[in-house]
Amino acid sequence: SKESGRGKVLHYNSTMFEKIIWRVEREEALKHAIANHELYLAFQPQIDCKTKEIIGFEALIRWSNPKLGQITPLEFIPIAEETQLIMPIGKWVIDETLTFINEINKISNKRIHVAVNVSVLQLIQEDFEELLLESLSLKAISPDQFVIEITESVLMQAIDATAAKLERLQAIGLKVALDDFGTGYSSLSYLKNLPIDILKIDKSFVDTLGETSSHDDLIRMIVQMGQELGLHMVAEGVEHQSQLEMLQTFGCNAMQGYYYSKPLSKEDSIKLLQIENKN
Ligand code: C2E
Ligand code: CA
Ligand code: CA
Ligand code: CA
Repeated sequence: SKESGRGKVLHYNSTMFEKIIWRVEREEALKHAIANHELYLAFQPQIDCKTKEIIGFEALIRWSNPKLGQITPLEFIPIAEETQLIMPIGKWVIDETLTFINEINKISNKRIHVAVNVSVLQLIQEDFEELLLESLSLKAISPDQFVIEITESVLMQAIDATAAKLERLQAIGLKVALDDFGTGYSSLSYLKNLPIDILKIDKSFVDTLGETSSHDDLIRMIVQMGQELGLHMVAEGVEHQSQLEMLQTFGCNAMQGYYYSKPLSKEDSIKLLQIENKN
């Protein structure tokens, strides 16, 4: 297209000029996204594989700009990280999540947890811990309902700066999840020494379930070894019943994916919990 790139996606064959315009427009707009109330959270339910009950949610950020349209986090989180906008955005995500936890606590007496994705830049901030604890106490939320999701690369990039911090957060009851497990390099035995409570098996592993028996055996082994290390195992990106059934036989603890539900609005998440309470 000859137009300047508003609201459209970038293609592999976009010119460098188009890429620069695209980037500058998004960076400029992202600066004002919080103040303009363009950010919101979606919540994807996490289900106990056995009981099929909701045990938690993952908060996923969304950005809707009147000119640029809907922009996915895969597009704007890297921009937020490069521009340091991830600090205010990350804090906003945490505060919105805590507000959501307070709302679900009003309607559910189960201790449902909510996970947020935390970027390495956020985590290595000196005052990350202090700000988080402040927000938790301000909203009177018990730390055990709050989960921090970090990716393997985050943990490995800044292991010294983050491990001690995560251990202190765990000590007060917060849970730490390792996201996208299987896409990085760490072995399960290595994870043993890291401050992790939950292991999220990456969607790419779940996608290929049922294709070969050797792959299925590998996933079964990961689930079992993870549990032997005391980790709560969560499978991501479960789209089909056959995948859920296999994960159930492997003894996987929880699952998340389109098969049960796509990420939902705050209102729909609350409705879902209300319906579950009635049953
Ligand atoms: P992630 O943390 O691995 O989140 C899972 C992604 O997979 C989400 O995409 C979710 O909508 C999608 N998903 C879940 N189940 C299925 C399924 O069954 N099939 C398919 N095809 N997709 C599924 P989303 O929301 O676009 O987020 C993409 C990534 O952006 C996240 O990957 C995470 O790395 C990042 N992200 C999202 N929200 C935040 C945030 O608040 N802060 C930071 N730092 N990163 C975030
Ligand atoms: Ca995640
Ligand atoms: Ca993930
Ligand atoms: Ca991912």
